[in-house]
Amino acid sequence: GDRLIDGDRLPEDMAETTLRPQTLDDFTGQKKLRENLKVFIDAARGRSEALDHVLLFGPPGLGKTTLAQIVARELGVNFRATSGPVIAKAGDLAALLTNLQPRDVLFIDEIHRLNPAVEEVLYPAMEDFQLDLIIGEGPAARSIRIDLAPFTLVAATTRSGLITTPLRERFGIPLRLQFYEPEELTRIVKRGADLLSFGLTEDGAGEIARRARGTPRVAGRLLRRVRDFAAVAGKKVVDAVLADAALTRLDIDKRGLDAMDRRYMGCIAENYGGGPVGAETLGAALGEQRDVIEEVIEPYLMQQGLIQRTPRGRILSAAGWRYLCLTPPKAIEP
Ligand code: ATP
Repeated sequence: GDRLIDGDRLPEDMAETTLRPQTLDDFTGQKKLRENLKVFIDAARGRSEALDHVLLFGPPGLGKTTLAQIVARELGVNFRATSGPVIAKAGDLAALLTNLQPRDVLFIDEIHRLNPAVEEVLYPAMEDFQLDLIIGEGPAARSIRIDLAPFTLVAATTRSGLITTPLRERFGIPLRLQFYEPEELTRIVKRGADLLSFGLTEDGAGEIARRARGTPRVAGRLLRRVRDFAAVAGKKVVDAVLADAALTRLDIDKRGLDAMDRRYMGCIAENYGGGPVGAETLGAALGEQRDVIEEVIEPYLMQQGLIQRTPRGRILSAAGWRYLCLTPPKAIEP
């Protein structure tokens, strides 16, 4: 979508690859995950073995691709990247796997969107570093087995619930990314401003960080928009007042919620009496894809305690009603 706070990757984000941290020490936040990963990487490197397969899950824009690249760099091996929907046939996966050097990292983004026939081929490749392929058709068809170099699969998904159990069980290192704390995002924003040679005060960085939905990609995007405002206003240094003015003009409120978030919550309140209401229904009412609702909008609203997911659907919490300055119907008042 064209939302500023959308977690999805936009073409302009590609220019941001310069902002990507290159090493684990450069990578801010996700402290526990980072410490665990460091131990596993050091151990694999010490034994000169391929690192166990890694599964990264969490909402978009939290740094899964960045971490996958860092894993390869820290291991001192090549990094090859693809994504679930791109691997159409078993042969496509075979071509990728047979080109890997020993201990290389293969990154598959959106692994939950892998074709089931391709997934079948991936199992023995992950487990025994072997490929079983059928060559030819009809009576002449035969199966051949190809030995692969030991490699590390790093896979990413926004939807851990959509991964099949046999696939999930083949990852020795499952890691969940969390939303970043404001202090961590402040550091990320300051680092970004330095790399862009952009004058930003500590308070200015904090203001952007607080409104970035706990997401580094959103922080980077807000940073660039604030920089545009500053350039047009002829300001050399941006402080909290200027950052606030810019973000308010972008319709991003103090908590980082934008017009879409407010429409989403308003819809539950006004059309469905606060819920419960299903994601499909909400998507239709808002004209948004269910994926966007579930992967981009809801995780942050849930983390903020503004909505809750229940087996019967989404409901607005007491905090959600307060945020909208509305009174909940009597029955669900706390
Ligand atoms: P997607 O789910 O869409 O693949 P992602 O989780 O892979 O997203 P990345 O592309 O790795 O996210 O990161 C998004 C942006 O945020 C990048 O520009 C990256 O430089 C920046 N970024 C992510 N994590 C960090 C971090 N810990 N410190 C600094 N910058 C970060």
